[in-house]
Amino acid sequence: MPTLLDNKGGPDGARRSESDDSRAARHPEKQNRPDTPLQRKPSWIRVRAPTSEGYLETKRIVREGRLTTVCEEAGCPNIGECWTKKHATLMIMGDTCTRACSFCNVKTGLPGALDADEPRRVGEAVAAMGLGHVVITSVDRDDLADGGAAHFAAVVKAIRAASKATIEILTPDFLRKGNAADIVIDAKPDVFNHNLETVPRLYLSIRPGSRYYHSLRLLERAKERDPSQFTKSGLMAGLGESKEEVMQVMDDMRSAGVDFLTIGQYLQPTRKHAAVDRFVTPDEFQALETIAKSKGFLLVSSSPLTRSSYHADEDFARLRAAREAQLGGR
Ligand code: SF4
Repeated sequence: MPTLLDNKGGPDGARRSESDDSRAARHPEKQNRPDTPLQRKPSWIRVRAPTSEGYLETKRIVREGRLTTVCEEAGCPNIGECWTKKHATLMIMGDTCTRACSFCNVKTGLPGALDADEPRRVGEAVAAMGLGHVVITSVDRDDLADGGAAHFAAVVKAIRAASKATIEILTPDFLRKGNAADIVIDAKPDVFNHNLETVPRLYLSIRPGSRYYHSLRLLERAKERDPSQFTKSGLMAGLGESKEEVMQVMDDMRSAGVDFLTIGQYLQPTRKHAAVDRFVTPDEFQALETIAKSKGFLLVSSSPLTRSSYHADEDFARLRAAREAQLGGR
């Protein structure tokens, strides 16, 4: 699942109330949790409400293609900036997730059947948007025998057929799905991304349906099976993790061969989601980036508004350049 995040605060940072009915419909499993008041965001988190022509054009293509985006489903605060540049992260296999992570605003429940026509529509939308780089993510589909791996691979193939865009996939963990992840790796995306999201100590409260070492192993597997693919993973900051724990996760990622690390501030979607422990300052994010770079990642993006797919197109070019520089220096 995607690293995400906020937005009942809205892109402008102002608080909006979400009706109890709509909240219960999106997250029925969280309704017995105690309420945690939403904290006011600091000035460095505020972003402008989206209004640009590019934003409206991206919205039109998404609607006409009957596509789902994680930008909207998770209420990403960067939607104005990203969609203005026609950069949207498409979410495949429906809008309903079978996990119940306490940080994520994507709707939970039992999803419908897969849409066999979705790969074609995704390929057409990528071509229509004229994307040079596309990020595809999905909900978790624990209800499917392969966790949706074959569908993921079909989407990669359809994009390759319709466009020259480089492809980044942000996958679920395929927990208890045997070797299903190999199907996705063998589809040869340019970037294989799976977010660890948080430090192992917090998994039980933040990612209760997932297992830290399984997720880590998935990243390692992707690199072992196809070393030419870039691997990428992300962490949320501000959930109660210590700096030492984050540094340990960085080491774990490097041991698994992860090339690219993203770190961004966790924002609480609703009163029923995990509370923000604290807002990490821009200087602290910068310090984490410096530490991560010293550990040997090819690329690190660490800032309050960093998300898995934020600036993914420019970052892909930087990743390639960093690898070439590394190989050239040997
Ligand atoms: S950061 Fe990612 S999820 Fe957020 S708006 Fe941009 S592309 Fe969408």
